[in-house]
Amino acid sequence: MASIFSRIVEGEIPARTVYEDETTMAFLDANPLAPGHTLVIPKEEYERLNDLPEGLASDLYDTLHRLIPAVEDAVDAPASNVAFNNGEAAGQEVPHVHGHIIPRFEDDGGNPIHAIAGSPPDLADDELDDIAERISANNQA
Ligand code: AMP
Repeated sequence: MASIFSRIVEGEIPARTVYEDETTMAFLDANPLAPGHTLVIPKEEYERLNDLPEGLASDLYDTLHRLIPAVEDAVDAPASNVAFNNGEAAGQEVPHVHGHIIPRFEDDGGNPIHAIAGSPPDLADDELDDIAERISANNQA
């Protein structure tokens, strides 16, 4: 079944669209965490960031890059958090890639991105070395 965001792309359900091009689209989040909270999506439905073909990943980044200042300026925000919930265990509820642009304000009571995960792990140097090596090896595969 098509995701709720694909239904927005198809015009089957309404959204406050703020940007659209051939491959991407952006609209206001229906349950905003801040004024101007905007979602940026690829029009084609992929569940995770890493499922996107390269060209579409670049298009998505271009749209985020273009919209961040547009969103911040529209609500007079000095900053924003820009984030993806990438997978169910990370809190992704809609299985259609979407980047959140959440405007932030001085003293808005929110938290930095460091507050997302649970308790930080206490990792020894050799564990950190091992993780870094594995990531590097995977990246070269
Ligand atoms: P996530 O937890 O990253 O999957 O976030 C999904 C986001 O989509 C939430 O912030 C919802 O408020 C938002 N959302 C769900 N349905 C709609 C909709 N029809 N229009 C706009 N935003 C939506």
